[in-house]
Amino acid sequence: MKPFLVLMIEDSAVDAVVIRGMLSKVQATRFNVESVKTLADGISRLDRGGVDVVLLDLTLPDSQGLESFQRVVKAAPHVPVVVLTGTDDLTMAATAVEEGAQAYLVKGKIDARKLIRTVRYAIQHVEAEHAEWDSPMFRLAQQQFMKAAQIMNLDDNVRERLLFPQRTLVVTLPFRRDEYSEVENVFGYRVQHLLTAGPTKGGIRYHEDVSLGEVSALAMWMSWKCALMHLPFGGAKGGVRIDPTGVSRHELQRLTRRYTSEIIGMIGPDKDIPAPDMGTNEQVMAWIMDTYSQQVGYAVPTVVTGKPVVLGGSLGRREATGRGLVYLVEEAAGHIGLDLKHATAVVQGFGNVGSNAARFLEELGTRIVAVSDVSTGVYNPRGLSVTALAEYVDQNGTLIGYPDGEAVSNQEMLELPCDILVPAALQNQITGDNVERIQCKLLAEGANGPTTLEADEVLHERGVFVLPDILGNAGGVTVSYFEWVQGTQNYMWSLEEINSRLHRILTDAFQRTMRRAQRDQIDVRTAALIEGIQRVAEAKLVRGLFP
Ligand code: GLU
Repeated sequence: MKPFLVLMIEDSAVDAVVIRGMLSKVQATRFNVESVKTLADGISRLDRGGVDVVLLDLTLPDSQGLESFQRVVKAAPHVPVVVLTGTDDLTMAATAVEEGAQAYLVKGKIDARKLIRTVRYAIQHVEAEHAEWDSPMFRLAQQQFMKAAQIMNLDDNVRERLLFPQRTLVVTLPFRRDEYSEVENVFGYRVQHLLTAGPTKGGIRYHEDVSLGEVSALAMWMSWKCALMHLPFGGAKGGVRIDPTGVSRHELQRLTRRYTSEIIGMIGPDKDIPAPDMGTNEQVMAWIMDTYSQQVGYAVPTVVTGKPVVLGGSLGRREATGRGLVYLVEEAAGHIGLDLKHATAVVQGFGNVGSNAARFLEELGTRIVAVSDVSTGVYNPRGLSVTALAEYVDQNGTLIGYPDGEAVSNQEMLELPCDILVPAALQNQITGDNVERIQCKLLAEGANGPTTLEADEVLHERGVFVLPDILGNAGGVTVSYFEWVQGTQNYMWSLEEINSRLHRILTDAFQRTMRRAQRDQIDVRTAALIEGIQRVAEAKLVRGLFP
């Protein structure tokens, strides 16, 4: 998780040390604190950018009172300011709040908990006001779409219609901390991009970067992904802006139930069917299913997919994304003449997708030379045992200290020599900054949006085979579809049946995509996008316009 940068403009060395000490106490949210003693230094630091929040003493050697606040706002209008004040300056601090400061804190009366909450909420408020749509991921999703639309000569009316989601819901929701008197307020979202050809489908993400823009990008990708797979769904996505590692299991349950009840009018087995995504899992799906079922008065397992098997979850759903990715790696390897028995792979992310992809690659004889999680990367050119890694993570929580390899940073790991690179963690990993140093022959995207448009073009020129996210990670939603079909028909399929259907659907989509890429002389991502978009456009046009 990226730490927040706190700029403290405070001339009292004692106060600065006390506040810095309090901010360093946080576990769930990390703060980097930079402090300066004069307003001039503060403003020149703000000019360099990257500051998430300012803690401002109004009385400084080179500026006094409200003027200090006004000059900070002028230098950085969208950076939240929390005023630090003494008991004698309360009126002035209150005026600063009236003029737009987020809050004030009285020095000498602050405790660490209050300080951290105030700083976190200040950042959150400004983000809610200015940056809901302004997300790099949404820009990427729109750019990819516009590029594909231009190449395929998409009807202008349809293009405008698809550029933004059809329905969005933003909620704020409270949940009680285990410390009973403490209530946390967080932002939640559900976005439905396309309601043309069936219910909407897509995961729910719990992560501290979630915003309306990010969820909308993910919902748009779900539309293309489902259409590319010929699944009868439109794209959706949901999320809550929270770091799930900073809450207890009880807190997570209360949060999930409240979030579900806030979006309950939007979801349903024929309307919109959530599933797991980053930061959520089968247990979270079970709580959503239970909350929904309590509302309607009977059990409705088909309101979610990716739920536990005992509640009607599908066999093979948990590992479906990783398994599907490896089915497609086999296809792509055949295409570029790569022998998987003698190949090496680097897998970024050791969550559900990354760990299963690594396991299935290992089963095919590929040597896994590096893996990573949020804490660290582990590199061993002789090969890592995926079973041993999984056992270690089970026991220790993270990969830190894994004995049979060398620790590497996330950036170093992406640049290691290997045949196959599997980004299966966050978005925005392969960018203009590092693409020249990426050494793989095959980039198999498990994560959504790991590669920027700029990096894409370089990879294409260099002849790296890109298995794009909407194809590469579509195994998850495909088995979600099987789960929904089994649920709505009260059927139970065997694992063999599920895997063979999955294989058929994925390889068919792969072949259609490759045919288009070759015929139109375009990169594989654009070909996959066009395959999806074309189907959506046809469906839109044939339904016609109401009224
Ligand atoms: N969250 C997964 C994805 O991004 C799965 C969605 C689903 O199963 O509905 O594709």
